[in-house]
Order: sequence, then C-alpha cells, then structure tokens
Amino acid sequence: MTSDFIPFNRPYVTGNELDYVAEAHRNRHLSGDGPFTRQCHDWIEKRTGCAKALLTHSCTAALDLAALLLNFACGDEVIMPSYTFVSTANAVVLRGAVPVFVDIREDTLNLDESLIEAAITPRTRAIVPVHYAGVSCDMDSIIAIAERHDLRIIEDAAQGVLAGYKGRALGAIGDLGSFSFHETKNIISGEGGSLLVRDSNLVAQAEIIREKGTDRASFFRGEVDKYTWRDVGSSLLPSEIIAAFLWAQLEQAQRITEERLAIWRRYHEMLAPLEAQGLLRRPIVPADCQHNGHLYYILLAPEIDRHSVLNELRKNEINAVFHYVPLHSSPGGKRFGRAHGDLPLTTSLSQRLVRLPMWLGLSAAQQQRVTDVLGAILRQKAR
Ligand SMILES: *Cc1c(COP(=O)(O)O)cnc(C)c1O
Repeated sequence: MTSDFIPFNRPYVTGNELDYVAEAHRNRHLSGDGPFTRQCHDWIEKRTGCAKALLTHSCTAALDLAALLLNFACGDEVIMPSYTFVSTANAVVLRGAVPVFVDIREDTLNLDESLIEAAITPRTRAIVPVHYAGVSCDMDSIIAIAERHDLRIIEDAAQGVLAGYKGRALGAIGDLGSFSFHETKNIISGEGGSLLVRDSNLVAQAEIIREKGTDRASFFRGEVDKYTWRDVGSSLLPSEIIAAFLWAQLEQAQRITEERLAIWRRYHEMLAPLEAQGLLRRPIVPADCQHNGHLYYILLAPEIDRHSVLNELRKNEINAVFHYVPLHSSPGGKRFGRAHGDLPLTTSLSQRLVRLPMWLGLSAAQQQRVTDVLGAILRQKAR
C-alpha cells in the first residue's frame, strides 16, 4: 500500500488514552465499575438525560441486556428493520423471541413508521428503531404507536452517540437505548458499549443482570450488607482499563463530533454536482434530526453496477464499502425471523448503497480525490 491509499476507516485516538490506562493501572482497580467507569456513566447520563448509563462490553452486550431486562420469551415478537446489524436481531433470538422485519423509509433508510402498526400482532412486545448513520428515526410516531399498543421501545443507537431528535439525545428517548464504542464508531474503546436506561423503574434490575444476576452494585453503594444471587444474569461490564481508554474519548467527544460533521459537510458540498447530474443520491437528513457525522453514504443510480464501482475505486487506492446485507434475506434471518411483506425498499436501497472513507484526519485534498475519482467512474458508466 502506498501513502496515497485512502482507507475506509482509521480509528482516531486523542492521545490521552494511555495516560488514563496507566492511571487505572496505578489505582489498582482493574475490574469493572471503578472511578473511570463512574466518570463515563456520569458523562453519558448528563449528555443524554437517561436515568442510568451502564457500560457494557459492546453494543451487542447492551442489546442482550435490554432483551433480558424486558423478559422477552419464546414466541414473543419484536419489530425492527431488516436493514441493520445482526446484533439487533440476535439479542431477540437469544431469548427465543422472533424478530419481525419491517421495511425502511427511502429518505433516511430508517424503519418506516407508517408500516409498523400493520406488523403488530398479539405477541408483539417491543419496537427497536435503529438510527442509521446517526440520523434519528421518527421517534414521535414510534412513541405514539408504542403507547397505543403497550409496547416497549429499545433504541439501537449504536451509531447515534451525541446525535439528537428535536433536541433530545438518541439512546435516551425510548425505554432503553444502546451505544457502541467499537473502533468503527465515532467514540471508541476498541470494543465497547453502553446500555441507556430511561425508565428509572428498570435501573435496579439492569444493574443486577449486568452483575451476574447479583445485587453487587447496591452492595458497593452500601445499600445492602451482603450481596447475593437475585435473578438471571451475566458478566456484562467492561474492566477499568477499557473505561479509562473510553474516558479519554468521551472528554473530547464534542470536538470529535464537530470535526466529523465538518468532513461530512465537505463531502455533501463536493457531491452536489454529481447528484444534480443524476449519478447518485446524497444522504437526506430531516429537519428534526441533529446527526453526528457518523458515516457518509451515497446511493448509486439503480442501473449502475455497485460491485464494479467499488472495484474501480479500489484500483484507485480508495477503500469504499457497501453496508448491510438485509437480515430477512440472510440464512439466519430466514431461520429465526419473519419479514412483514416484501421489503422492496430494503432490498433495492441496500444494493445501491456505498459508504465513502470517513475518519478524523481525512483531509480536504483526500476528499477531493475521492469525489473526483468517483465522478469519473460514474460518468463513464452512465455513458
Ligand atoms: C455497530 C453496530 C452494532 C454492534 O455494535 P458492537 O459494539 O460492535 O457490538 C449494533 N447495531 C448497529 C446498528 C451497529 O451499527
């Protein structure tokens, strides 16, 4: 690889991570829920307004915790998009429940709220809105549907750290929400995540499940004089070493988000002419959504072969990538889930989507090269 190669992702580090890890080492508190974890929890609670944040090993673990907490059982149904990461569905399947896949909106690629009610059955327990690219689902409509049918809402806000909807933080709008700190996300700790609990009635139980089914958390706060097995649970908390790393990122999360947004806007301007020529569609962000520059995607014109576009970009030392293979069309999705209808937009949009290189440090000159090369490829194919 020459120095001209532009990778799809380059994990960003602030430079303070190792100092904080060294501090955790000096503290000799290396297991979970020490001072760094508490700082991370406070930060997430203050920034989002959730009643309780609980760090987990990943967003996947946070979703698993949410599914345990809401007691999903065999035969229960949970509505979600098919256009999402497998963890959204696995959390439900692990409880013996059934993911019910609903089509997405053409503008945001998020769950189409107008199709949710028709997918509800007497077995439906919850809705899982996934905020793709850090752009919010239509939460007002989804909340209204959940209230009408007495359903829970778990937000998969893996991509939604510091993004908002009508001024409210993603992840803290539904009963429960989840963040990811995987190295491909905006704020990272290698692997990492958090559960966000908005419904304060669920906090004590969430703490118990996360601590091997014991009331260890209240024991350490001095609320009980011994801790004991209370309920089913697992070990879902990360060590202080991870939390220390994460703290270095959260401290600078606002700046990191602003810089990503600047890169996002630069792409958006540079690609306007290609959209005007009908060669691609740029992302659409509804006025109610304050996104976080998590990723920049384009939708190719339907007749353009995406595979060859990605190959030609790679020949030009640019790594662009597609995104989700819809879950309802995957072997696991067919085996464990149920599609509500044909999901035509999920199928067509997912086949046209390309994510462009997006990371802190990507220069304007590199973005210019990406958009110039992309424009040349698309013009040549449209001929
Ligand atoms: C990244 C992602 C996840 C999984 O996050 P991990 O922290 O890697 O477990 C889940 N859902 C969505 C929508 C994601 O983008």
